[in-house]
Amino acid sequence: MTVINDKFTVNTKGNSDITDITQMVKHSVYSHSLQNAVVHVYVAGSTVSVTNIEFEPGLLVDLPEALEKIAPSDAEYHHDAMWHDGNGYAHVRASIIGNSTMVPLIDGALQLGQWQQIVLVDFDNKARTRTVYVQIVY
Ligand code: ZN
Repeated sequence: MTVINDKFTVNTKGNSDITDITQMVKHSVYSHSLQNAVVHVYVAGSTVSVTNIEFEPGLLVDLPEALEKIAPSDAEYHHDAMWHDGNGYAHVRASIIGNSTMVPLIDGALQLGQWQQIVLVDFDNKARTRTVYVQIVY
C-alpha cells in the first residue's frame, strides 16, 4: 500500500460560503497518473465541511436554507454560552455534514457523477483560510 499526501488552501467568506474544489482535487489526483486508488478529501476544522453537491445556483441557496432550519443561526447554543464566539450553529452544522468525502479512482478517472461536484462549505461566522488534505491510497 502506498499513500500520497497532498493539500491545498481555500479562502472563504464564512457564513455558509460554498466553494467548488473539484478541479483542485482533480489536479492533485491526476498529476500522479495513477489508475486505481482510494481518494480521501478531508478538511481540518470544526466549523467547516466537505461534501458533494450539484454546484448550481438553486442548490447553493437550498443547502444553507435547509441547514438554517436544522441549526438556526439565531438559536441559543451551549457552546456560545461557554465560549462566547457566537458560532455554535456553525459547529452543529459541520458535525451533521461531516468533514470528508471519498471518491474512487478507477481506470484513471475519478468516479464523480456528471452533476456531482466536491465542495467545501464554511459555516463559521467570519472569513477563514482552510486547509484541504487529499490523501491518495493505492
Ligand atoms: Zn466556536
